Amino acid sequence: MTVRTRFAPSPTGFLHLGGARTALFCYLFVRRHGGQFVLRIEDTDLERSTTESVNAILEGMNWLGLDYDEGPFYQTQRFDRYNAVIDELLDKGLAYRCDCSKDRLDRVRDMQMAAKVKPRYDGHCRSRDVDPSAPHVIRFRNPVDGAVVVDDMIRGRIAFANQELDDLIIRRSDGSPTYNLTVVVDDADMEITHVIRGDDHVNNTPRQMNILAALGKEPPRYAHVPMILGEDGARLSKRHGAVSVVAYRDQGYLPEALLNYLVRLGWSHGDQEVFSLDEMIELFDLADVNKAASTFNTDKLDWLNQYYIQHGDPKHIARLLSPQLGRLDIDPTAGPDLVEVVEAQSARAKTLVEMADISAFCYRDFDDYDPAAAKKHLRPVAREPLERVRAELDMLALEDWTDQGIHRVVERVAGDLEVNMGKVAQPLRVAVVGRAASPGIDVTLRLVGKEATLRRIDRALDWIAARAQQA
Ligand code: GLU
Repeated sequence: MTVRTRFAPSPTGFLHLGGARTALFCYLFVRRHGGQFVLRIEDTDLERSTTESVNAILEGMNWLGLDYDEGPFYQTQRFDRYNAVIDELLDKGLAYRCDCSKDRLDRVRDMQMAAKVKPRYDGHCRSRDVDPSAPHVIRFRNPVDGAVVVDDMIRGRIAFANQELDDLIIRRSDGSPTYNLTVVVDDADMEITHVIRGDDHVNNTPRQMNILAALGKEPPRYAHVPMILGEDGARLSKRHGAVSVVAYRDQGYLPEALLNYLVRLGWSHGDQEVFSLDEMIELFDLADVNKAASTFNTDKLDWLNQYYIQHGDPKHIARLLSPQLGRLDIDPTAGPDLVEVVEAQSARAKTLVEMADISAFCYRDFDDYDPAAAKKHLRPVAREPLERVRAELDMLALEDWTDQGIHRVVERVAGDLEVNMGKVAQPLRVAVVGRAASPGIDVTLRLVGKEATLRRIDRALDWIAARAQQA
């Protein structure tokens, strides 16, 4: 048997973390079993589905690298097929027309509530011959006896008594098919063997299995993934910060960090925290997914992101950093090689947004000094070290504008002045970076380049002089 899974988002919003985790689980399961992954866009809710959402979902999947083998298929393009199936069910007596008015349904419901029984359709039209030319819906004739047993790959066996299940509407009065019908037809037509989805769909599963049985199809295996909670215990939502996958990209997270984070939400393998995608594929098993909901934890995501920034291939990180610099209006080709910047900064940033912020000085002059850093380091005593270091750097040939060359200059100036290196390096750093923190002074100056370094030292000397005059 070839394993076939599908991810079937409704395009009524962006790809959120829960959806991305479901997609990841589908992807890992199918890749591990050498199967095929189908993407299906469930866009039948015409009022709530938008093209922007479709694009956001595709963009999110693409950014995470969750590539699919077939699709995207759009349900709105398959209405003829759904209607043909509904007609077939009608012909076979497995579905029926219902023209119960809303008033009648409300009355039945009120009576059931008063009698403390679970409200559901009372089967009034089951044996009536409803006029097909008058307004009506089509209901599925659900079996009345017995039970449906879902052998869930995560939650185990769950039995549903057929008596508890409604005669579901499968075609609305406007002629459009409903969710449970379209899912069933698609899962059957697309030969899906494993349905992995959020556990908000658990109660749909027995209904879908009954419809599949009516169509003479074997049900797929089902795995319902528990939901993700925010740190306050409530279901993860916008309130908890970014929930869209693409927003994480924009905030400077690496796709591999987010994937690693998502796989650990509800799945574990011993104490291991860091997993490459290949390792996930090799180790992931639905049987090891937690039954209980998992809690989103930003610190853990940040830790993983920092880990991947530090341990990832600098070329790869540089490619992802480039658009973040672009957002600061920086053209990364107009300055030091981005890979060198990444190598210099990788231990200093939790996100690529941070990395872009602390690396802007490599590409352009900063506006203002950090007040505390300037107060501490750009004082009159810094004038002499800065003047000397400027003179020596000016004499440094461009081919000596290297870490060693720069280091030797700073060391020599400090030696000549009989002060420790920090007394030279710190004013120099504030002069060139605007802040008291940056990579090693030699690396910092190498990245900034000779011309900008000298220009910024001059600016600092002017600043010190102006302050001295004011005092
Ligand atoms: N379209 C459904 C949703 O977005 C998923 C349906 C399914 O996976 O069966 O929640």
